[in-house]
Amino acid sequence: MADIADIGNDRAQWHLDMALAAHKAVPLKASLKDCIDCDDPIPEARRLAATGCTRCAECQELSEKMGARYAG
Ligand SMILES: [Zn+2]
Repeated sequence: MADIADIGNDRAQWHLDMALAAHKAVPLKASLKDCIDCDDPIPEARRLAATGCTRCAECQELSEKMGARYAG
């Protein structure tokens, strides 16, 4: 007979399964070939390392600095 702890564990496992399934269903966002800011081609290594990246390393760094400035 299941006690309250077992029911809690089942529910946690169910949530975990759902979260994993939802995560798997979302396709990985493809990296852009060219930077959205400067139109320079994004190096293949960066596109693979930073999946879904939209900027070259320089513009990404600049964007993050700008973001940090505005966020503060
Ligand atoms: Zn750029």
